[in-house]
Amino acid sequence: MSETSPKLRAVLGGIPTYKPGKPAAAEGPVAYKLSSNENPYPPLPGVMESALAAAAGFNRYPDMACTGLMNELAERFGVPVTHIATGTGSVGVAQQLVQATSGPGDEVIYAWRSFEAYPIITQVSGATPVQVPLTSGDVHDLDAMADAITERTRLIFVCNPNNPTGTVVHREELERFLDRVPSDVLVVLDEAYKEFIRDVEVPDGLEIYRDRPNVAVLRTFSKAYGLAGLRVGFAVAHEPVAAALRKTAVPFGVSQLAQDAAVASLRAEDELLGRVGSLVCERQRVSEGLAGQGWTVPDTQANFVWLRMGELTVDFAAACEQAGVVVRAFPGEGVRVTIGETEANDIFLRAAEAFRKERF
Ligand code: PMP
Repeated sequence: MSETSPKLRAVLGGIPTYKPGKPAAAEGPVAYKLSSNENPYPPLPGVMESALAAAAGFNRYPDMACTGLMNELAERFGVPVTHIATGTGSVGVAQQLVQATSGPGDEVIYAWRSFEAYPIITQVSGATPVQVPLTSGDVHDLDAMADAITERTRLIFVCNPNNPTGTVVHREELERFLDRVPSDVLVVLDEAYKEFIRDVEVPDGLEIYRDRPNVAVLRTFSKAYGLAGLRVGFAVAHEPVAAALRKTAVPFGVSQLAQDAAVASLRAEDELLGRVGSLVCERQRVSEGLAGQGWTVPDTQANFVWLRMGELTVDFAAACEQAGVVVRAFPGEGVRVTIGETEANDIFLRAAEAFRKERF
């Protein structure tokens, strides 16, 4: 047997593997997972029925064109079906967007800190990440991002609301930024948490993309619609971009279970968005509770809160876990905590209060 291993692309050596949120312990005291921005509600019975009905045919490949889902999305959002592309979660579609635009020698701009998949999918494509720090208020610095554009820029991610800070960019500043972006550079508005937004100054990407052929809007069924485990997301963009996404898609990347559950979710939207409303109330309760304890919490429009903890991050996450909630630590920076079940949020608030009394 040969001693050498297959030659892998050198760039992979420097790329971290995506780290999922830590799961709650299977054993021991009550533990809630608040580390992956998931929806705490169980699937709606009707949605589950649709998925289970599809399961009866899983000896067959799914509908590769996602016809039913595409038609439903086109109708729901009032966009031409040719402007939609579905994929294996919105992270899958994000990867396709990078592959469709950017390769070695090209640059991809995004804010940092932001969604941790951006640097990974950029480098896997062979492109160069250009990270533009958030402002001191943890908001996208759109002026600095526009200043970072070069002749090599091919794609820019704007995560709105931003993961992990929950902060948003407003209509006017976004339009001003887009006016500065050359028309041959694609801007991806990542709206994974769109349905949780209550700030009326935040634009709907679908209104922005209509007049801007270089804008793609990224959405997911994982968060508000509660289908994280089924892996289905989509982009809306003008035809050349949407067509390129269909070429870069992994064939049959969205299972029939996912397609049918997504259609059923769109049809049950009233109920699902009602749940989102409850989570938004809980978000307010948690944010106000933390502020009352003395924490500085950036205004969040997503289903999580961000606490800048610096050197205390790891200790704080450990204290939360000890109390029964698993949160997401970004060592040296801060902690992102998903809004979960009322009881989970209560445990978190109590843990935060105890930590503050002990360490501040
Ligand atoms: N975009 C953002 C900003 C996210 O936070 C996430 C999930 N954490 C995704 C995209 C990807 O979600 P999914 O692949 O489940 O659609």
